[in-house]
Amino acid sequence: MLLVRNVITNMMALACVAALSSAAMAEPRIKAVATFSILGDLVRQVGGDDVDVSVLVGPDGDAHVFQPSPADARTIADANIVFVNGLGLEGWMARLVKASGAKAPTVTVSTGIRTLRGEEPGGKGARAHGHDHGTLDPHAWQDVANAKIYANNIRDALVKADPEGRARYEQNASAYLQKLDALDVEVREMLARIPPANRRVITTHDAFGYYSRAYGITFVAPQGISTEAEASSRDVARIIRQIKAEKVPAVFLENISDSRLISQIARETQTKIGEKVYSDSLSKADGPAATYIDMIRHNTRAFASALGG
Ligand SMILES: [Zn+2]
Repeated sequence: MLLVRNVITNMMALACVAALSSAAMAEPRIKAVATFSILGDLVRQVGGDDVDVSVLVGPDGDAHVFQPSPADARTIADANIVFVNGLGLEGWMARLVKASGAKAPTVTVSTGIRTLRGEEPGGKGARAHGHDHGTLDPHAWQDVANAKIYANNIRDALVKADPEGRARYEQNASAYLQKLDALDVEVREMLARIPPANRRVITTHDAFGYYSRAYGITFVAPQGISTEAEASSRDVARIIRQIKAEKVPAVFLENISDSRLISQIARETQTKIGEKVYSDSLSKADGPAATYIDMIRHNTRAFASALGG
């Protein structure tokens, strides 16, 4: 009898251990898809262990010119929730969602931000006529205040999709929002050290409009807000004249851009090329911009060090 009781006690103890370990290593309860790597990181930060996140356009990928595969359609069909940036970044997305037959809600994380308009590819003359034919600039994540809006939208959408996880999503989001506040302060401190006359930067495509508005650095780019259209030789010539006239201290290459254009500009203007910056996607895990926070910090350091900050 004693033996039997021991066996039962042992079995109960084992069952307890099994239950505990399965709680500690809980399977993610919902599957989320994020369209590009920067957004994927934000969803992971807020979703934590409860959410399994798949990313369509991975590190160093270019969401402007992405061509989805049948595997991407299956990933979306399999998801409980889909996160997109919106503002025209993912022009391929509506067709992909339709083709996939997905039933999951699509959440536009940029909802609620104060948008900027950019110039249409090749439309450099539009503003000269005194009116702007520009389309929306999608790169809102480059302002840390907007990343906070993204995080809030992600939290609300996850709570709605998975009410059971509410407390954790709220906790994760509030911890992350604090980190973003600290990051914003850090960015401003780093940039404050740059002499005001030096606060001008050339990049390949116009991905830093929101960063510029938030942090007071002027950016000029030969390509418009998308990488779809090539810069015209007239655009390049204009920028070369501008760099020489305004003595712009440095030019930068984004991780998603072709290096030839910036190399040519640097050569013809005798301007130095700063460290590679990350505009539209993160670096790979072992790179300097594997998370959103690391990306903003890396870019800001790159600007500050090249501009004399
Ligand atoms: Zn871009």
